[in-house]
Amino acid sequence: MLSKFFLHLERSSNKMIQFFLPQFCENCGKEDLSAEITSLCKTCLKVNLELYPNFSSEFCPKCKTFLSGESICKYCESRNVFFHSAYFLLRRKEMEKNLMNQLKMKQKKQCSRYFSMGIGSIVKELKNYQPSALIPVPSHKSSWSKRPFFATNSLLSRLNRKLNIPILPILEKISHKHQSAQGRKERFFHAKEAFKIKKNARIINKPTLVLIDDVFTTGASSNEIARLLLEHGAESVVVVSATRKTEGIEL
Ligand SMILES: [Zn+2]
Ligand SMILES: [Zn+2]
Repeated sequence: MLSKFFLHLERSSNKMIQFFLPQFCENCGKEDLSAEITSLCKTCLKVNLELYPNFSSEFCPKCKTFLSGESICKYCESRNVFFHSAYFLLRRKEMEKNLMNQLKMKQKKQCSRYFSMGIGSIVKELKNYQPSALIPVPSHKSSWSKRPFFATNSLLSRLNRKLNIPILPILEKISHKHQSAQGRKERFFHAKEAFKIKKNARIINKPTLVLIDDVFTTGASSNEIARLLLEHGAESVVVVSATRKTEGIEL
């Protein structure tokens, strides 16, 4: 009885602390209660939040690259695309880059929430594929300060609930280099060698898998992982990335 009482006390005091603790915007530092939900203040959210136009006819229906008025997608034309289709939540700008660094380097997990915004528009679409599992793309161990943590944590758990499919961390990063430190050409060669399927993991019954990444730049990693998953028994791979960088990218 006594322990129950203490448990209750502990729970309610946690709530109290949360309630009275001021919430600060991870971008500008301003105090704002909405930072508790999105990690940004209302102003920063309004200025920065730009949902990716996945369903615009001006974008390629497969890889969602801007078509610049042409009927053929330069991205899909210039390489073998192994994923079935790709979806993005947010456009990656300077603020998204900084916020993701905070999240990865300083383990500011609350920032993860921002990178799951706009999920509503793609859930229905994903359900149509009847996927079997969510496969997170791991970052290299050196960027973990304590234990494995995905920048896409919030996105993963929300999709896990909404699609009712498991999160299976079957990928392992084997390269010591960071993909972002590579030039365009090197990205392709590096991506090929960068990941493998964990030793004890098997893909059975030809599933459709949803690959969850945090950044899509040239898409070299996502595309190579899609190839790897297909080679190991997946029927098809749909890519979902929290952000896509569009400025100054050579396809
Ligand atoms: Zn702010
Ligand atoms: Zn395309």
